[in-house]
Amino acid sequence: MTEISPTPLPIARGLRGRCPRCGEGKLFQGFLNLRAKCGHCGLDYNFADAGDGPAVFVILIGGGIVVFAALLTEVVYQPPYWVHAAFWLPLIMIVTLAPLRLIKGLLIALQYHHKAAEGRLEKRGDA
Ligand SMILES: [Zn+2]
Repeated sequence: MTEISPTPLPIARGLRGRCPRCGEGKLFQGFLNLRAKCGHCGLDYNFADAGDGPAVFVILIGGGIVVFAALLTEVVYQPPYWVHAAFWLPLIMIVTLAPLRLIKGLLIALQYHHKAAEGRLEKRGDA
């Protein structure tokens, strides 16, 4: 039997930093800390554990963008090293910090939508 999900838009709710169940209550308290529960529907956020997932996506995507741009700039223009430092260090801060909250909210919303949790051992019936 297929169960209809109460969250038709988990991606939009996650990206907006809203409760994955009702889409109204705030998910974050501060930049990356989660609230204890939803202020609108009361969903307990203890299930939410994005772990290192947001950081991994940010490192891989943002790092790839900046390294590719820096290498391309070096090959084409060969600027002095201080230009690299002045340009790429702020850019790496932008491309890593800006999407971190979005991706964390997205992963938590998808975790709720798919009921993802740690694996548990279940007792088997006699086979
Ligand atoms: Zn809620």
